[in-house]
Amino acid sequence: MDLKQYIAIVPDYPKEGIVFKDITPLMNDGAAYKAATDRIVEFAKEKQIDLVVGPEARGFIIGCPVSYALGVGFAPVRKEGKLPREVIKVDYGKEYGKDVLTIHKDAIRPGQRVLITDDLLATGGTIEATIKLVEELGGIVAGIAFLVELSYLDGRKVIGDYDVLTLMTY
Ligand code: 5GP
Repeated sequence: MDLKQYIAIVPDYPKEGIVFKDITPLMNDGAAYKAATDRIVEFAKEKQIDLVVGPEARGFIIGCPVSYALGVGFAPVRKEGKLPREVIKVDYGKEYGKDVLTIHKDAIRPGQRVLITDDLLATGGTIEATIKLVEELGGIVAGIAFLVELSYLDGRKVIGDYDVLTLMTY
């Protein structure tokens, strides 16, 4: 299935000069959402994943169906102030702005094999911060999966040597 037909290209969103890739038409189509999820599940199957971790909010949309299919848990990475119990945090830069990401301190046990998911890889700042959080808690990043990669922003360089799957490249 050609998944790109389900990505809406939105010029000048959220601000001028940014060409936003809207994944909501893909989510809106049951067959496309399932096909994308199945491909990530296939990628994850051989990796003995113990836990899926995804940054808010679209990392949840990709990661939760994958965690369900694998029969493992899901741990959310959220902006500062959103998680109710003790967290660790990391500062990060993204395509448009700066922010802080957090994860519950007890979300990952040392040695757990983690699949990180997000909708889109742009500059890599969000995923770099998510990797830091996982590793600080002793998790092993066994794979990272995205629907979309914006290759012209070179996020792969920031990610380095991890095993990365992207379903669509622009
Ligand atoms: P990065 O940190 O790699 O620069 O940006 C990626 C993060 O920003 C992801 O969490 C993603 O959800 C969001 N993002 C940045 N650009 C886009 C875009 O064009 N489309 C979508 N759907 N998300 C984007």
